[in-house]
Amino acid sequence: MSYRYEFGSGEEVFETVNPASPSEKVGRYGIMDTSGMGLAIEKANAAQAEWARVPGLERSQRLNAFIDAVEARADELAAAGTLEQGKLFRESKGETMKSCAEGRFSVGEAARMGATAIATGRANYSNQILRRPRGVIFCISPWNFPISTPMRKICPALAFGNAVVMKPSQFTPAASFLLAGISKEFFPENLIQIVMVPGRSASAAVAAGDIHGVSFTGSVPTGKLVYAAAAANLIPVQLELGGKNGAILNDTDDLEGAVSQILGAAFMTSGQRCTAISRVLVQKRLANETKEVLTSKASAMKIGPGMDETSDMGPICNLPHWKDVCSNTERAISEGAKPLTGGSAPNRPDDGYFYRPTILGDVSHSSVAGQEEIFGPVLSVIEYDTFDQAMVMLNGTEFGLTSALFSNRNDLIQRFLAESQNGMIHVNHGTVPDNNMPFGGIKNSGVGAYSVGPTAVNFYTSEHAAYVAW
Ligand code: NAD
Repeated sequence: MSYRYEFGSGEEVFETVNPASPSEKVGRYGIMDTSGMGLAIEKANAAQAEWARVPGLERSQRLNAFIDAVEARADELAAAGTLEQGKLFRESKGETMKSCAEGRFSVGEAARMGATAIATGRANYSNQILRRPRGVIFCISPWNFPISTPMRKICPALAFGNAVVMKPSQFTPAASFLLAGISKEFFPENLIQIVMVPGRSASAAVAAGDIHGVSFTGSVPTGKLVYAAAAANLIPVQLELGGKNGAILNDTDDLEGAVSQILGAAFMTSGQRCTAISRVLVQKRLANETKEVLTSKASAMKIGPGMDETSDMGPICNLPHWKDVCSNTERAISEGAKPLTGGSAPNRPDDGYFYRPTILGDVSHSSVAGQEEIFGPVLSVIEYDTFDQAMVMLNGTEFGLTSALFSNRNDLIQRFLAESQNGMIHVNHGTVPDNNMPFGGIKNSGVGAYSVGPTAVNFYTSEHAAYVAW
């Protein structure tokens, strides 16, 4: 049996499969034991000491050259992403290029190093707010963005002089190993370590280890375990967790355009995006037309392998998650939600972990379809009479990641900006974020400094108030 990707060593092995065709093995990875991980952390610490001595401008140039090399190999990275994750190749390519664009912001950050000028309170003093690298950043990634989640952690970490120990999801590790391979030419040896370990070992390393920050992206329950492990040593955390993101459709001159944006945000990566819109809160006046347009567009989508350029949507990433999407949608339907289209898998999982694009009508706010992150191509439509009701429902989940409002009314837009309990707020477009804007959530969607943009410095550096008298 030949594998496309083979990395790591260890007696225990994890194999990945192509979710569009699960009999096709894609990767073979040796699972690292605890002593291997300890050694990786030790090596990262040594490499970090060397990297922190490199002047910031040179770090900036080397990071830029690394990003150039990633861009040059975007097709190869995107293929690895699609073969293990399942999403469309063009989405994987877009993910790669976007992660590079975000990384370019970090290139500038390495040159700025969070510089702040501040006045002194006393004569013959100078005051400075200094920023230093934290040290080794332990990074834990989920399976839905195998290229951009590692890049979103690697670029700011290295820009500010840190080393990275990266634990990828077992379902999609190829891209992380490829990125580490590309990086070798530009950075000190061992600065980026990929540790293929089981999840529980990752928490154990956080609790025990010689690391200085944890950046975790994943689900709320696992995030809480990581947070608790980090608390044992008061290690700073950045947690980016789930969402049950709502779009309010209140009034629009272009219903078709608004619905297209909502559908894009709902079904890209088969709905397996933390920022996917999974609830449309629609004013009753617009409800029938909205459901008609959603249903006709969703039912026309072609599901198929991500490598087939005629596909509109790929499969679910892995079998356990495919089972969750099936059973959670069944629960939603048993609670009264009505599938206007979809609501089932088109085939047995042996033939690919596909799930039909699904629009659920008659959804009540307190039900599974109104509250839980199904994390698949399942969009709930919830109707409202007043904008007050819409805002109560928008904010009435455990999550607070992203949100959208479609309206031309300035009073409602201002209320939305003031009252949407989400880290990210979009008016009159879907939930696509820019490459220089903070990315993160509140409530159960996140803790700590956001990633991307100017505030990432708060997680990736320590802060020092320095006074010099002369
Ligand atoms: P997950 O929480 O199951 O796993 C995430 C990572 O944590 C994986 O690498 C996993 O192996 C590891 N892990 C498992 N147990 C662990 C433990 N005890 N200690 C430490 N690490 C452990 O999440 P997933 O299923 O891979 O990803 C889907 C979830 O990620 C969704 O909830 C989604 O919303 C969320 N997500 C959030 C963002 C964001 O930026 N907010 C982005 C992408 C995904």
